[in-house]
Amino acid sequence: MAVRSVLIVGGGISGLTTAIALAQRDVRVTLVERAPAFARVGHGLTVQGNALRVFREIGVLDRVMQHSHPEEEGVTLFHSDGSVMMHLETPRTGGPDLPPTIGVLRADVHEILVERATELGVELRLGTELVSFDNHGDSASTLLSDGSTEFWDLVIVADGIRSQTRAKLGIPDEPAPSGLGIWRAVTDRLPEMTGGIAFPAPGDEGAFKVGYTPISATQCYVFVLCSPQRTANDLPDWQEMRRLMEPFHGQFDWLRESIDDSRFLNFQEIEWIFAEGPWHQGRVIAIGEAVHAVPPLIAQGAAQCVEDAWLLADYVTREGDLETQLTEFEARRKPRIKGVVDASLQLAYWECHPGTPGADPGRVMAQSLIALLEPA
Ligand SMILES: Cc1cc2nc3c(=O)[nH]c(=O)nc-3n(C[C@H](O)[C@H](O)[C@H](O)COP(=O)(O)OP(=O)(O)OC[C@H]3O[C@@H](n4cnc5c(N)ncnc54)[C@H](O)[C@@H]3O)c2cc1C
Repeated sequence: MAVRSVLIVGGGISGLTTAIALAQRDVRVTLVERAPAFARVGHGLTVQGNALRVFREIGVLDRVMQHSHPEEEGVTLFHSDGSVMMHLETPRTGGPDLPPTIGVLRADVHEILVERATELGVELRLGTELVSFDNHGDSASTLLSDGSTEFWDLVIVADGIRSQTRAKLGIPDEPAPSGLGIWRAVTDRLPEMTGGIAFPAPGDEGAFKVGYTPISATQCYVFVLCSPQRTANDLPDWQEMRRLMEPFHGQFDWLRESIDDSRFLNFQEIEWIFAEGPWHQGRVIAIGEAVHAVPPLIAQGAAQCVEDAWLLADYVTREGDLETQLTEFEARRKPRIKGVVDASLQLAYWECHPGTPGADPGRVMAQSLIALLEPA
């Protein structure tokens, strides 16, 4: 086996999934996370079949399914007056025996991953960050914020889109604006609300589109896609989100009314990054959003992160030369992720430029998901 001891930097979905996948293969894993505690982040997450396939491999699928809502029915597209435009089936990217997608609270996925990592003996060090690293041929050393210097067979950096390690690895790419902002809230739903996206009427200003995904029998998360600058007004956030939803009717009237100041709600600009060049230097490699983050228009961000995790663990626990394994891992991952990035950026452009001749979001979305039917 090429590696026996690994440091993972970052306790998000990428870092935790990698830790579990390696620990399952009897690698000694330490994970450092800068935050002093794993906070319960309240957003909803759409998890597609290809991510569920990885969750099954790492032994968390049953727990995730218990906390989620499967979307067997696909997504309904609505006109802004609430009438149905069409129904879209989502390809089963995880194979025929897994739901095409599920909706779940991000915090629940995170807690399940932490629980599984702990069961497998991963050493979790919270409130600790990577300060610097050095390569020494057959090992890499790290200086951590607790002052310790340690040696590892491999250091895996999964420190997210704001990665401070990326530049130290010689990766020049930085996050770029997508032209989009997003409001998100977790709220109640009625049983007949099975997941939908509504588009504005020509001339409507404000939101590019609104949508919701069920995350349980009684709850869903709602999003509003809009320009990246929050409108300058005195409205509290929940009222601003309701204002942007005003042109949308039918089910969206009900959802809008259920948003109040008791809901977890936030607004953020959406950025993207894709590092085409090498992700590794010696025995230190970056994965996940540190090297690829996409606008969430086909909801593949986390799925691509967990595919990284699963495949990297597979490559580096084979017999052979680590440099070759890391190079082959990258060569296998990049074309697949690039397909998702290109499709997501095309969709983001069309969102920002409604009425673009030839725009065909349904086709681009379907083609990019169909390309993922082939396992990673
Ligand atoms: C608005 C929005 C909606 C999204 N919706 C979806 C969706 O529906 N479905 C989907 O699949 N994906 C979605 N995504 C994408 C998905 O959330 C991300 O791809 C995924 O969470 C990235 O995980 P990560 O572990 O790579 O990074 P992160 O979650 O950012 O984790 C990085 C971790 O590293 C830690 N860290 C940073 N620096 C250091 C350091 N020096 N030392 C130690 N620790 C450090 C951070 O504290 C953090 O915990 C969405 C993204 C956005 C922005």
